[in-house]
Amino acid sequence: MVEALDQVDLYRVRLALMVTAGNPLYTAYEAGVQELQLMRSFVEQQLKSYGKLAPALVVLFFQHHLDVYIRAKVKGEDVDVPNFKKMLLNFKQHRKVQDFVPMYTDIPILATLSASSPSPDASGATRPPPSPAASKARKRMKNNKWDARYHKSTAFGQKVHKGKIQDWLNKLPEGVCIPINPTTKKTRCLSFHARGECREGCQRCHAELNETEAEELFVFNQQLFNQE
Ligand SMILES: [Zn+2]
Repeated sequence: MVEALDQVDLYRVRLALMVTAGNPLYTAYEAGVQELQLMRSFVEQQLKSYGKLAPALVVLFFQHHLDVYIRAKVKGEDVDVPNFKKMLLNFKQHRKVQDFVPMYTDIPILATLSASSPSPDASGATRPPPSPAASKARKRMKNNKWDARYHKSTAFGQKVHKGKIQDWLNKLPEGVCIPINPTTKKTRCLSFHARGECREGCQRCHAELNETEAEELFVFNQQLFNQE
C-alpha cells in the first residue's frame, strides 16, 4: 500500500505543475490524498484479500476519476470536480469495494491480477466468478440451523432462491448494507443463512445467529429479495 500512496502523491506533485494555484481539481486531489493517508490502514484492511491488486485499485481510484473529469472538461461539458475525500469517506462507511472501484474488471491487466488473488470478504465486494472447476472442488456446507422462513416451501423462500445474490445486492439503494457480525466485522453470508448452504472456504460469516441477529438479517433479506 505504501507504493500506492507514493504513486498517488507523486501524481499530486505533477498535477500541481499542470494547474494554477488554488485550482479546484488540485485542491480536491490533495484532500483525497490526505484522506487516503489518514485511512490507510482501513483501506489496507478492506482490500487485503485483493492481494497484489490492492495497491493498483487505490491508484486506479484516483486515476479513473481524474480521467473521467478531464475527458468531460475537454469535451466542454459542465462537470463537478471529483470529490475524492467524500468518495473515500463513503467507502469507509459502506465498505463496498465495487462502489469504490467499480471498473477494474474492465482493465485486462487488473482482471488478470484479480484472478490470481483470493476472494475478498468485504461486504458485497466484487469478485471474479470462480471457475466451475474451482467451485466444484470446494465442499458444500449445509446450514443445519437454516431459518424456515427462507425455505423454498414458502412464497418468500421462492424469491430468495431466484437469480444471483449479487444481482439482488446490486439493486439495493445506496447505504443499505448486509448486516455484519459485530465481533468479527464480517458480513453475514447470504448463501449460508438465506439459501441454506454455501461452500467451504467462504470468507463471509456463517456463525450461528441469535434471535435478534436472525431478525435483523430477516428484515434485511425482506428488503433485498422483495425488490422488483
Ligand atoms: Zn458463505
